[in-house]
Amino acid sequence: MWNSPKVGILGGGQLGRMLVESANRLNIQCNVLDAENSPAKQISFHDGHVTGSFKEREAVRQLAKTCDVLTAEIEHVDTYALEEVSSEVRMEPSWQAIRTIQNKFNQKEHLRKFGIPMADHRELVKNTPEELAEVGEQLGYPMMLKSKTMAYDGRGNFRVNSKADIPEALEALKDRPLYAEKWAYFKMELAVMAIKTKDGVLSYPTVETVQEDSICKLVYAPARNVSEKINQAAQALARKAVSAFEGKGAFGVEMFLLEDDSLMLCEIASRIHNSGHWTIEGCALSQFDSHMRAIVDLPIPAKSIELRTPSIMLNIIGGATPDSHLRATEAALSIPNASIHLYSKGDAKPGRKMGHVTVTAATMHEAETIIQPLIDVVDDMRA
Ligand code: ATP
Ligand code: MG
Ligand code: MG
Repeated sequence: MWNSPKVGILGGGQLGRMLVESANRLNIQCNVLDAENSPAKQISFHDGHVTGSFKEREAVRQLAKTCDVLTAEIEHVDTYALEEVSSEVRMEPSWQAIRTIQNKFNQKEHLRKFGIPMADHRELVKNTPEELAEVGEQLGYPMMLKSKTMAYDGRGNFRVNSKADIPEALEALKDRPLYAEKWAYFKMELAVMAIKTKDGVLSYPTVETVQEDSICKLVYAPARNVSEKINQAAQALARKAVSAFEGKGAFGVEMFLLEDDSLMLCEIASRIHNSGHWTIEGCALSQFDSHMRAIVDLPIPAKSIELRTPSIMLNIIGGATPDSHLRATEAALSIPNASIHLYSKGDAKPGRKMGHVTVTAATMHEAETIIQPLIDVVDDMRA
C-alpha cells in the first residue's frame, strides 16, 4: 500500500481549496501556507497549516519542515525561498520552472528556444515614451503592453491603440517591469490543461475560453466548432510547451486560434487553472485529482482525463455590489445539471472570482440552452 505523503501548498485561495477537496478524498493531508481562515484552510481541519504568506521566506521554510512535497496554487511565490529549501523537500513543479514562468517575458524567451509559436514581442528597459514609441513602430498598433510580473486577470495588460495612448499606458503600468506584444488577431481563445508526470506529459481535451474585460468568463469543453485536427494540434502544442519545464503537476496553457487556423501560445501557468475547473464534473479525474496524483507519483489512467460529457463553466465574479454574486448563485440553484462551487472568500469586490458553476449535458447545444438564463443574470449584475 502507498503511504499517503503530506503535501504543502503555497496559497490557500480557491485553487488551493479545490486541491484540498481532491486530496481529502485520498486521505492526503495538505498543509496550507496562507492567512488564517483562507478558503483552503476552511475545509481542512488539522494542526499542520502555516499562517503567513507564500511571499515570506520564513513562512516557506516553516512549511517545508512540515511536509514531504511542496506545490503551489499560484506562480507569484518566493522562488528564492523555494530554492533554499530544495535540499530538504521536493517541490513540484520545480522552483526553476516557477521562476521562469512567473516572469512572462522570461517565460516567452525560454519557450522561444523550443520553437513554440508566440506573438512577436519586445522588452522595454527604460519604460520611456520614446522607447515605447520605437517598439510601436516595430510591432504596429494596436499592441499589448504587459507587465512581466505579478500579472493576473488582465491586471498588468494595457492595450495601446496608437502612439497617442503611450503616456496613459505607461502611467497605468508605472513602476512595473514591462514588455510589449504584437496584437494577436485571434478568432477564438483555446486552453489545454497539461499534466507532467514522472513518465511524460498528458493532456486534457482542448477547451474554448471566453474572457470579458480580460477575465475568464466562460469555458466550453470541448471547444465549439473546432475540428479534431485543431484539438489534437492544441494538445500537442501544450504538451510540447510544458515539456520545456522541469517538475511535475498541472500546467494551464492558454492559446490563440488565429484566422488561418494556426495556433499561438498566449501564456502558461505553472499550476491548476481556471480553464480546467470543468474537469471536476466533465472527467473522471479532475485537474485537481491529476495534479495531486502527478506530484506524489500515483497513476493517472489516460482514459480518466478524457471528456465524459460536454460541459460549460461560468465564473461567478464580484459585481456592482458586495452581494451581487449571491444573486447569480441563487439563480444557479434552479438550473438543471448545474454544479455550484463557491469559494467562501467573504465579501465580493468587482472583478474578484467568487465561485463558478458548471453545467453538463448530453450535447453542447443542450448545455448552452440550459446555462443561458444564468449567463443573462451574470451579465445583468456586472459592475
Ligand atoms: P491570466 O488571468 O490568464 O493570468 P494575464 O493577466 O496573465 O491573465 P494574459 O493572459 O496575458 O493576461 O492576457 C489576458 C487576455 O488579454 C488574453 O486572454 C487575451 O484575451 C488578451 N490578450 C493578451 N495578449 C494579447 C495579444 N498579444 N493580442 C491580443 N489580445 C491579447
Ligand atoms: Mg497570466
Ligand atoms: Mg492569461
